[in-house]
Amino acid sequence: MTPKKTRRIRVSLELKLADDVLKLEAPVTDAKTTAVELIPAFQAFTNQVVAHSIKLTERQGKTISCKAGCGACCKQPVPVTLIEVEHLNRVVKKMPDREQQRIRAIFAHHLEVVEEAGLIDQLRDIATLESTEKRALAAKYFKLGLECPFLENQSCGIYPDRPLECREFLVTSDPRYCAELDAEGIEHIDQQMHMAAALRKLSADSHNAAGRGWVLMIFALDLAKTGRLRFKKKPSKEWVKGFLQYATDKSIP
Ligand code: SF4
Repeated sequence: MTPKKTRRIRVSLELKLADDVLKLEAPVTDAKTTAVELIPAFQAFTNQVVAHSIKLTERQGKTISCKAGCGACCKQPVPVTLIEVEHLNRVVKKMPDREQQRIRAIFAHHLEVVEEAGLIDQLRDIATLESTEKRALAAKYFKLGLECPFLENQSCGIYPDRPLECREFLVTSDPRYCAELDAEGIEHIDQQMHMAAALRKLSADSHNAAGRGWVLMIFALDLAKTGRLRFKKKPSKEWVKGFLQYATDKSIP
């Protein structure tokens, strides 16, 4: 039997955000796939929404403080969805051997440090905690001074592949507040839609493992290595529709 040919299609959606009409577009295929293969589409939608939020912020006369060479926020615990865990695992596997070894060694070092600090079990299950417990644990993690394994010379070494959470984290406040994890001082830009939260919801639907659909970055490679993650397959358009439904659901923080 001849295999069915995969067709490239373009998904587009018009949304009214603030006083603007935003047209979201991304290329997908008509194939049945896992949500991991749709990461480029989720990233493209997020970039468009974030670009619009930046435009609105600048219209208010505010300036975004984030720029290349400022990795002030990259010591904070970064949530990554399990879909992104698998994506980052593939990104690392494509790196040259020496770079892979360097990155894997940093991940392993960070796990040792959190284990020695007696935080590893709580951090592994952080997604199940209440908000106040999450914040308290994040503060303890931050005090360990662990930079994201992908941070290089204070810039993101995987910028095109960085998680949605990193894409949305933009501030107008002084970078020192990010560097000190001073929640009172940090002024986030107002995101019109919460794409990282939408991906966390979609991630929980996308695989066979129990849980909330996300972990902290430091666990990403370790989790991918276990091979326990099995992703469900659905037509691409259904994943995209689910993601955009979650993204436009105002009840998701
Ligand atoms: S992935 Fe990149 S942007 Fe995100 S925390 Fe790591 S270095 Fe920073």
